[in-house]
Amino acid sequence: MLLIHPPIAKACEPPAGLALLAGVLRAHGQSCQVIDCNLEAQEHLIQAPAVSDDTWTRRAKKHASSNLETIRQPALYHTFSRYQRCVADLNRALNQSSQQAAMTLSNYTDSSFSCVRSDDLLAAVEHPEQSPFHDYFMNRLPQALEENAPQFIGISLNFMSQAVPTFAMIGLLKKIAPQVTIIVGGGLMTSWMRHPNWQNPFKSCIDHCVDGPGEAALLKLLGVHPQQNLTAPPDYSVLPLEHYWSPSPILPLATSRGCYWNRCTFCPERAEQNPYHPLTVSTIVEQLHHLCSEWQPGLVHLLDNAISPALINALMAQPLPAPWYGFARISKQLADPDYCRALRQSGCIMIKLGVESGDNQVLESMDKGVTVELTERVLNSLKLAGIATYVYLLFGTPTENLDAAEATRQFICRNHEAIGFLNLAIFNLPTNSPDAQRLDLRPFYQGDLSLYSDFDHPKGWNRGEVRRFIDKRIKKEPLIAEILRRDPPQFTSNHAAFFV
Ligand code: SF4
Repeated sequence: MLLIHPPIAKACEPPAGLALLAGVLRAHGQSCQVIDCNLEAQEHLIQAPAVSDDTWTRRAKKHASSNLETIRQPALYHTFSRYQRCVADLNRALNQSSQQAAMTLSNYTDSSFSCVRSDDLLAAVEHPEQSPFHDYFMNRLPQALEENAPQFIGISLNFMSQAVPTFAMIGLLKKIAPQVTIIVGGGLMTSWMRHPNWQNPFKSCIDHCVDGPGEAALLKLLGVHPQQNLTAPPDYSVLPLEHYWSPSPILPLATSRGCYWNRCTFCPERAEQNPYHPLTVSTIVEQLHHLCSEWQPGLVHLLDNAISPALINALMAQPLPAPWYGFARISKQLADPDYCRALRQSGCIMIKLGVESGDNQVLESMDKGVTVELTERVLNSLKLAGIATYVYLLFGTPTENLDAAEATRQFICRNHEAIGFLNLAIFNLPTNSPDAQRLDLRPFYQGDLSLYSDFDHPKGWNRGEVRRFIDKRIKKEPLIAEILRRDPPQFTSNHAAFFV
């Protein structure tokens, strides 16, 4: 079995899902290799000839290989302006390597093929030579096939930015290795398959589409009965942990699937009815300590939608030897300064918080289960304990109006000293959410694979007005602009913990 992580995703940490699959397959005696084509292909293109000849591009290409070294050096992260310039130059070197796509270090938009139209993805299969990654694929894939002679190739498709390159890769694999069975799983494939309108349009090019966790599905395809349990630890030896674009290795780990709260009305997790499946706390703590002693990471990234209170308590009792961060729900415990101090001592250096709104009626209508007052107490307790916060806000939700958005603006200003980093997003309505049943939809992505929709806002607070409000009233507010300037370009929350 050969597992592939396709471009483009942020190349700052290894793909946790593939390390997990490798761990389970190997624990069942199956041979398994992993290629991070995302990391390799981006490095290939960054150092490839440019398609333009302006001063910035020449400089970015000239320093491409030294910048790829520098982005792994801790000294770079001591001076934010140097870091910004290094990232901007790497980004320039990447996006000036092809005219076929608008590429950044975190996104990919193809000029010919849409990632939300199955016809376009099938056309990408037919024309892999149009992909900016074609040269890299042509060198790397035959070599991988020769070295590993896989009977199965599993591709992990998690983000929209990976969709077109994934299908181009499949097109090439079909040409050079038609006998190999192609399996595609991952978060994006799962979301497509769980959509009520799903009618597999990819039967001609993908042998097996996998919905949800891939471990049991892959073992079944290999003809192996999963007699051992499926909680084998991830195997990071299959990936070049030291080679990712971070000052020290990041070790990502998902300790649960789904969300223990699972009530927020806007949430895709809830819309897809993903059940909550945590590992047992003792298993997680044992795995984390084992992985930390094996890999000596500089940072542990807990990937859960919301780290459970039980796990937080367990990490307080058995602190990790490496700093860690992840998403947590706002809770009464986190409002307690003593609790937050103990959390800091457990190694927690940053908490990501889905605050969403600074208006209580909006929070209540979303079923967030928190109030603005509690959120403010949590922010202040975390600040006092020395834990940074990465705050996520959502504008344009169905019950928001201008006054509620203004309340959110005032909330940020009131709490600006306690907010480390800020993510401002415009609400995308999941097309399979309960709200989508009662609102008048206006698709903004024209495509059969689109998971989100625009809608006629019941209060007239439509997308254009929301965007103008964010641009004029939020981003231009000096106290807020100061927070936004701290955000690491391209890598955002994935690198933020290196600046706290
Ligand atoms: S807490 Fe987060 S993951 Fe859980 S339901 Fe709410 S938005 Fe979704």
